[in-house]
Amino acid sequence: MRILVVEDEKRLAQSLQALLESKGFCVETAFDGEAGAEYAELGVYDLLILDVMLPKLDGFALARRLRAGRCAVPILMLTAKSDVPDRVEGLEAGADYYLAKPFDTRELLACVNALLRRQGSQVDTLTFGNTSLGLADGVLSCGSEHIRLSAREFDVMRLLMQSGTHNLSKEALLSRVWGYDSNAVENHVEVYVGFLRKKLASIGSDIRIAAIRRLGYHLESGPPS
Ligand code: CA
Repeated sequence: MRILVVEDEKRLAQSLQALLESKGFCVETAFDGEAGAEYAELGVYDLLILDVMLPKLDGFALARRLRAGRCAVPILMLTAKSDVPDRVEGLEAGADYYLAKPFDTRELLACVNALLRRQGSQVDTLTFGNTSLGLADGVLSCGSEHIRLSAREFDVMRLLMQSGTHNLSKEALLSRVWGYDSNAVENHVEVYVGFLRKKLASIGSDIRIAAIRRLGYHLESGPPS
């Protein structure tokens, strides 16, 4: 599960990251609203944790921008007492839940788990073209044909299906699947895309993983154009 924390108080952002990582989540941080929006719009996160008062773009405006772009990811908003919490504005902007700072870490974790569970019950498969991907079992299905993906293949396929027809860069795939600190290189992405193309073909999928130079990959479906 991938979580994006958008919080300009760097120490708080880092302690949230450490807390969530200790619970097995994969966490990235952004320190202003613009950067947060750019990350969030990649569509690869399962949950966003947004501070309200942020430089460049505040949490309300960020949530509204994402919802206007049909991004349905759950949003947990953090609000300081001094922010004069305006729950109505936040909820209208598209937040799913509010937590007032300072918050108890157990309460934060309970909120995170509740929001992820809620999302999980709504979305247990991703579908593109004639093919679906089971999020629980990592199985790609097309009609009566099925094939199981390895863990890495699953991560790459899930991100591609979440981005759909939007381009996803090799760097984004690399950092989200292999992590910033790994020794993986862009060639790894190409290798796994190759594996996925073979598996898609083997079940008769009409999904094509299109590669656009410098922009990365996106999905197409239907007969070849
Ligand atoms: Ca702030």
